[in-house]
Amino acid sequence: MGTAKLIDGKVISAKVLSDVADEVKDLKQRGVEPCLAVILVGEDPASQVYVRNKKLKCEQVGIRSLSYTLPADTKQEELISLIKELNERKDVNGILCQLPLPSHLNEKDVINTISAEKDVDAFNPENVGHIMIGDASFLPCTPAGVMEMLKYEGISAAGKHCVVIGRSNIVGKPMALLLLQDNGTVTVCHSRTKNLAEYTKEADILVSAVGKRNLITADMIKEEAVIIDVSINRNEDGKLCGDVDFDNVLDKASYITPVPGGVGPMTIAMLMKNTVTAAKNQNNI
Ligand code: NAP
Repeated sequence: MGTAKLIDGKVISAKVLSDVADEVKDLKQRGVEPCLAVILVGEDPASQVYVRNKKLKCEQVGIRSLSYTLPADTKQEELISLIKELNERKDVNGILCQLPLPSHLNEKDVINTISAEKDVDAFNPENVGHIMIGDASFLPCTPAGVMEMLKYEGISAAGKHCVVIGRSNIVGKPMALLLLQDNGTVTVCHSRTKNLAEYTKEADILVSAVGKRNLITADMIKEEAVIIDVSINRNEDGKLCGDVDFDNVLDKASYITPVPGGVGPMTIAMLMKNTVTAAKNQNNI
């Protein structure tokens, strides 16, 4: 037993962003300026922060960003017509509509309207299908960020038992597919799983994406396991934390992602990468 190595999302995302910035420079020399359109409906404070951070990251890597801030009472037809307009624009390569939307709007229709080649979040069913088949242009940002972290640390899922906790469309399900594509043997757990610990104890790679503080304690993990904590929760002092009882798991795991500074910074870096991919694809580069 020792102390697990921290998988540092700040360092790894900085590397991804620097590669993206180089690619943007190269594209600009070829006359292509990658551009991401970000739509925010309403005034949800967390969404405002996410959108602001996305804009700042765009600036950092040289991607042009367009912001559309719409009032909370925006009608479905208005939002759909904005997306259709952006779908048609040659100078816009990626379109992102910050979720969640106000409850009167239909998220599914909105996601379906974003054209597959500009869907840099990879939420559109066409892109989800490509992920399932294994020939996707865009991978959903958070699970793709986790795969990038594993790759950076030289950790392959091949032959390993990978246990993913959570089955959402944006994290858990695509995460399981990407680990499967990397030749892991994958188990997906969720709220109806009985005896969660039975599965987690068998995990060589454990990914937790639930949103419940201290869900994963040291007695639930295998010696030398790789622990990836996707969740963002707050503890009783209001500080950010994940699902994993970090301090106690640290001595038993071989690798662990901290919260904050783990998966979080990777998500936005992968969004930048997807935007550059979109620009390249649309310009046959
Ligand atoms: P979500 O849609 O709420 O999904 C949570 C999943 O956890 C569901 O599949 C649920 O099962 C499962 N679950 C709930 N209680 C459980 C329990 N006691 N045992 C086992 N499974 C349980 O959340 P999400 O959007 O996937 O996000 C998950 C977490 O990741 C959140 O904390 C979110 O803030 C964070 N997140 C972080 C990033 C990042 O960039 N780091 C990005 C996205 C999300 P059922 O399906 O049966 O309900």
